[in-house]
Amino acid sequence: MRVRAMDMVYYELKDSLKDDACPICVLINRNVDNFIDALLYESVNDIKIRKDINDSKGYCNYHAWKLQSFGDPLAHAIIYSDLIVSLIHEIDVFLKEVKFYQGVENFFGIKKENRKSLKRFKDYFVSNSDCPICSMVRDWEKEYILSFVEYMEKDREFKEKFKTEGFLCVPHMFKLLEHCRIRSAVKEIMAVQLDKYKKLLNLLNEIKRKSDYRFVNEPKSDEEKVAWIRAVEKWVGIPGIKK
Ligand SMILES: [Zn+2]
Ligand SMILES: [Zn+2]
Repeated sequence: MRVRAMDMVYYELKDSLKDDACPICVLINRNVDNFIDALLYESVNDIKIRKDINDSKGYCNYHAWKLQSFGDPLAHAIIYSDLIVSLIHEIDVFLKEVKFYQGVENFFGIKKENRKSLKRFKDYFVSNSDCPICSMVRDWEKEYILSFVEYMEKDREFKEKFKTEGFLCVPHMFKLLEHCRIRSAVKEIMAVQLDKYKKLLNLLNEIKRKSDYRFVNEPKSDEEKVAWIRAVEKWVGIPGIKK
């Protein structure tokens, strides 16, 4: 048995079980924000972090814009000048190597002697290493899911809190079930999820009903007002979560 009652992950997960939030999404979001804060505060000068960013040819679209939304022109100037210097070098090499032919529509595909240079140029953009933040998200996700399963299987207090205040998003529900070994825990998780899906569905049905001209003047509850956003969040997880 590996119930780490005093473990930080236990309290992180348990404290995140509130307001029907997916605790795994909540914690990942918080960790990403903390990482970005630290990155902008000083880690942008960290050699390893800079190397990771350069190796992956920058962050993925989602995390690049998330970082941008935190501001900090200097940090962005440091990160993107590295990337652009390297791109300029690749373009220079490519232009030196490749032979241009007049009148050829698609010289990339046609001239055999250019294929190697083109491949090298294309490979430059298709990095083998993942976005460094996405890869951290995957590690955090794994740790939280394994711990969550363990607490659901072994810790009564945790289980009760999940029943009353938790509601997993679909991606995390499936990932969690993949790791659940105890049938009663699976049943309990599914029972909670089912109950909450039905409540969400009722709210969505109310939105539809009240869009009908006959009922349009009926007041909308606070829950109904946000149910359509909640549906997106529960279906795909928070932004940046992968299926
Ligand atoms: Zn989630
Ligand atoms: Zn990413």
